[in-house]
Order: sequence, then C-alpha cells, then structure tokens
Amino acid sequence: MAKETILIVDDDIRNIEFLRDSLLIPSGYRALSAADGEAALDLALKEEPDLILLDLQMPKMDGFDVLEALHREGREIPTILITAHGSESVAIQAFRLGVRDYFPKPFKVTEIMGAVERSLAEVRLRREKQELTERVENINRQLEQKLKELTILYGVSKSVTSLLDPDKLLTRIVEATMYVTGAEEISLFLLDEETQELQLRAVQGVGEHEARPVRRSADNAVVRQVMSTGQVAMIQTARTRKTDPLQATLAVPLRARSGTIGVLHATNKMAMEPFSENDPYLLSVLADYAAIAIENARLFAEVEEQRTKLETILTGSEDLIIVTDDDGLVLLLNPAAANAFCLEKVEMVGKPLLEVASNEALDQLFRLPGTGNGVRNLEVPLVDGRTFYASLSPVTDVGWALIMRDITHLKELDRMKSDFVATITHDLRSPLTAIQGSLRLLPQLGQLNDEQADFAKRAMRNVEHMDDLISSLLDIGRIEAGLEMEMSAIHMDLVIEEAVSNLMGHAKSKGLVLRAIVLDDLPLVTGNHMRLTQVMTNLLDNAIRYTPQGGSVTVRATAEADHVTVSVIDTGVGIPAKAKARIFDKFYRVEGPQAEESPGMGLGLATVKSIVEKHGGQVWVQSKVEEGSTFCFTLPRLEASGQGA
Ligand code: ADP
Repeated sequence: MAKETILIVDDDIRNIEFLRDSLLIPSGYRALSAADGEAALDLALKEEPDLILLDLQMPKMDGFDVLEALHREGREIPTILITAHGSESVAIQAFRLGVRDYFPKPFKVTEIMGAVERSLAEVRLRREKQELTERVENINRQLEQKLKELTILYGVSKSVTSLLDPDKLLTRIVEATMYVTGAEEISLFLLDEETQELQLRAVQGVGEHEARPVRRSADNAVVRQVMSTGQVAMIQTARTRKTDPLQATLAVPLRARSGTIGVLHATNKMAMEPFSENDPYLLSVLADYAAIAIENARLFAEVEEQRTKLETILTGSEDLIIVTDDDGLVLLLNPAAANAFCLEKVEMVGKPLLEVASNEALDQLFRLPGTGNGVRNLEVPLVDGRTFYASLSPVTDVGWALIMRDITHLKELDRMKSDFVATITHDLRSPLTAIQGSLRLLPQLGQLNDEQADFAKRAMRNVEHMDDLISSLLDIGRIEAGLEMEMSAIHMDLVIEEAVSNLMGHAKSKGLVLRAIVLDDLPLVTGNHMRLTQVMTNLLDNAIRYTPQGGSVTVRATAEADHVTVSVIDTGVGIPAKAKARIFDKFYRVEGPQAEESPGMGLGLATVKSIVEKHGGQVWVQSKVEEGSTFCFTLPRLEASGQGA
C-alpha cells in the first residue's frame, strides 16, 4: 500500500508526538506536523497531505481559519477535527467547512484510528476514480485522433479511386498529410521520367507561396537521401530548453512496382511538439496512396493510348471484326462488320450475333469443332454476293473473336481456274487417247530396233503420267461438284486398317515404322468409303514419302462429343511456316530438294481438303521443319452411333 501522508496540527507538542509516534508511524503512515495554524497552512499547500488531523484552538490562526484559507486556495484536503472545546455550533461550522469527523478531547485511540482509516479509504477511492477517469479520457482522446486519421485516410483512398487527375490527387494528399501530422510544411516530390530529376509536384504550408510554380526540382538532402535509399527518414534537432521551438523533418518514399518514384516530405521549423511515433506510419500510408494514384494515372494513360490505337485499327480495317462473349452476345465490332450485315453498330452490340446476323454459314461456324488451338474456319457467303473467309478463335476470359476477310475475288479466280482446268482436261483427253492408241499400234507396223522401242516406251510412260494428271483433275472436279459422294455409316477404324495395310510394304521398303493407334469402339461417322480411303492413302503416302529412313508414321483416331479426329503423324522433313497457309492449294508444292526428288503434282492435299470439307469436316496441319508433321482431319459422328453400316 502506498504510504499516505497525514499532517498533524496541534499547539501541544505532546499530542503531536503521541499521534505521530504511537499511532500513525507504527501504522505505516508518513506523518508531518505543525504547531500553529500558519505553519499548518504552509505545509498543507506545499505537501498536499492526504489527511489533516487539525486542532481547533491554536495561536495566530485557529483551525477554522486554516480550513477557510485552504478552501479559498481551492484545496479540498480531508480533515478530522480534534478539539478540547467542542460544542454543537462548533461541530456544525466544522462540517460546513467539509470536515469529515469531529472528536472532542480526550479521544479514544480506536475511534481516531477508525476515522483516519475511513477518511483515507475514501481518499483512495476518490483517487482511483480520478485515475480511471483520466485513463478513459485519454483513451477517448486517442480514439478520437484515430477516428480523425481514419476518416482522412478513407477520404483520400476514395479520391485515389475516383480522381484520375494526378495533380488534384497529389494536392489532396499533401492537404491530408498536413491535417493528420499537424506539420508546418508538406511537399511531395516526383521523379521526372525523362530528366530523372526529382520535381516538386504539390506543396502546403509556409513555403507554399515561394514554391510556386510547382515542379521546382528538389535540392533537399533528406529528400534526395530517401529517394536513393527508399527508406523513411525522421530527423529532430535536440533543444536545450523544453520551451525552445523544435526543428523536425520526416520524409517517406513513394513506392511503386518499379521502385521509389518520389518522396513525401513534412517539416516543422517552429513546432513545440515532435512528430509522433505514429506519424511515419501515417505518412507512409498516404505516400502509398499517392504512388497507387500515380500508377493508376499512368496505366490509365497507357490503356487510353492502346484503346485509341485499337479503335483506329478497327475503324480502318476492311476485314470484318466482331468480338462476342461466351454466349455469343456482341461485345464490339468495327464499322466494316456492321456495314456487311446492313446494320448500325448500336443495333448489334449486346445482341446475340447469330440472331442479328442471321446467316446459316455463321451458325455452322460456331458449331464446328475447333482445331488444335480452338480456331474454326469456314467460308461464309453473305446476302450481298460476297464470300468471306471467317476465322473464329476463342479468347480467354472474353469469349470469341471473329475475323472475316473478303475472298470474293479469290473465289472467282478459283472458279475460273476450275472452269479452265475442266475445259482443258476434257480437250486434252482426246489427243492423248489418240497418241496412246498410235503408240500401241507402232510395233505392229514393223520391227522396232532397241532404241526405237525405248523411245516408244518412254513416250507411253509420259502419256500415262499425263493421263493420271488429267484423271486427278477430273477427280477433284467431281469431288467439288459433289459427284460420286454417296454417304453411309462408316467404320473409320476399318478404313484406316485397310489404308495402313496397303501401304505397309511401301513403308517397310523405306525402312520406316508404320502403325495405327485407334480408339476401341471408335464411333461411326457419316462418309463415303472410297473417298475416305483416298484421304487416308494420300496422307499416308505423303507421310512415307517425306520421312527419311529410320523414322516413323503413326495414325491416331480419337472421338469427341460430335466428331472423330484422325491424325497422321510423321517424323519427317516438316513444312516451313510460310508454306503452311498454301499447303492445301491445288498444284502447290513446297520448293526444295524434296519436291525435285519426289514426283507429284501438288494435287494430293487439295483432294484431301475437298473430300474432308464435303464431309462437313475440317483439315489442318501442325509441323516443325526437321521434326515432322501432323495432318489432322475431323469427320462428323453419325448421329445414332452404332446403327446402320
Ligand atoms: P504432292 O505430294 O503431289 O507434291 P500434295 O498436295 O500431296 O502434293 O502435297 C503438297 C506439298 O506438301 C508436297 O509437295 C510436299 O512438299 C508437302 N507435304 C505434303 N505432305 C507432307 C509431309 N507429310 N511432310 C512434309 N511435307 C509434306
């Protein structure tokens, strides 16, 4: 228990000694004493005892005078009055002056000690209450301060997301910094990206007017130090007297992903209070907000620039460009696309593309199975007579991108080429048949010598080769015209098996491994047996032809929800990237030693493409030079799989 101080006031030294030495000190109290009223008042004012034991009659100043004087000084010290001349009126006056207890002399020791204990217990209680009240008030003050800081930080954080003008936001941040720290001057410096110099971008406080115009460069050593180290700096000057003003500086870095991009700087030149422990934290939070705002503004400017570029490209493009979400609702499109469908942009955005465009081929494009990277391609004729080559690609987190290129002139050329080929082949056939007939008759006209027989044989081989070419061309013509294309349910596994066994001898003679890996229970497809065998033979023949000795050719067949995919994978010479786009064109052959070494007309893959597309499937190639090629094609599954055949 804390030692409480009790002042004994009595003009009789024996009373003082008795109370002090026999009662109070043995009970653990600290005792002071005064033998007259004046000395008592002095001691009471100076020492502020917890309790006064006060005699009434004393020379110079009596007990009441002491009480009144203390009252006047505003000191409410609990007092117990002890007097030899007690009366009812004395007691009344004493209680009026705030006396706790009143004892006529002679008193009983137990009574006095009881009264002392009671009074001090009250004093203790009162003191505890006061301490508690002070603590609560203190906590309240801290809470109010925190609330104020939070409100300001919240306000600034809202500005960070809503203000895109960085200058306005930086001004708001320095204002907020000044408010929460109470500093005299706040400045915010940013690194100029071009000159790599620190420039003052916002300022508040005493230096505000001299600092205009802002963007002054930073000549402050602390600011430069924070910029180079990226660490908070707090410097306070020592002062000799508590009443001297205090010079203090607090600077924190503005940190972005790229590193330190500026400094927030607070200074006090005439302050009486130093920066608080909390101030570096508050300043750092505000600096973070400033950094975020600047990053946002930069990103916004970049995005805006990209958007403008994209807009220009979209607007200027002659290709039709449409982006939809996963459900096919139009997100954006370019003017060429809106024109092609004879609609305004606003009539299409937000609507289902297939509904507003109303085009059968487009419907089919969205239903097609995707190639390796999910892209689907199809020719799409429009009502205005133009034909477009449409490419539909999935875009992660967006939906679909549809790009359509006008190929009307290519279609026309293709048609002209087909017409020309049809005419020419027809016209070439008759003279060739005549030459063939003449060559066959030649030996009957007389014995040919060896040299003549050799010439005639070579002429016959060339005529047969030309006949093959004409047959192939006529064949493509028939496929394109949809002739000889009766469809039925086909076991693709059997078609693959047949083609593989036909070419096994050829593969072995070239020292290649040829194998087929076919899914058990491969679903039936709708197709033409003869044409699908032709597809497999052409692809396998190429794979064997363009794979050097020691390599392998593998056929794989898998099933998806609505189609079967067949792949012919070789470890051969591969196809250069620039040739891939034209590989399925008629008469196209990759230039180089292989083309020269192997005979061919460049019609094999064109035939494959025509047949697969006539089946409603797609064909594509993936290849790497000197690693190999994979040709894949899809065929729609027979709807009621397992029936028919
Ligand atoms: P051809 O084989 O008669 O020249 P194709 O239409 O079958 O005609 O093939 C066109 C070209 O594609 C070939 O000349 C060849 O260069 C290339 N090619 C086809 N298949 C492969 C393959 N598996 N590996 C490498 N190149 C190939």
